[in-house]
Amino acid sequence: MNCFDCTQERKDVSAVAVCCHCGTGICAEHMVLTTEEVHHDVGTGPSWGKRSARRATCRTCGGAEQESPAT
Ligand SMILES: [Zn+2]
Ligand SMILES: [Zn+2]
Repeated sequence: MNCFDCTQERKDVSAVAVCCHCGTGICAEHMVLTTEEVHHDVGTGPSWGKRSARRATCRTCGGAEQESPAT
């Protein structure tokens, strides 16, 4: 799979990850890496894991997530 954003720029770059939102291939340059806390449901109630999960998105989805919602 090639990077979707690079393809838009008529470049031919192999994707290193897949956007978890839109499913397009993304290269290292176009990848936005974020972490999120993993939610565990245990018997005594919800708790948060010590480790964060890795999340890779394309720039489009990463930028959309960082924008504050329109009011
Ligand atoms: Zn790219
Ligand atoms: Zn995306």
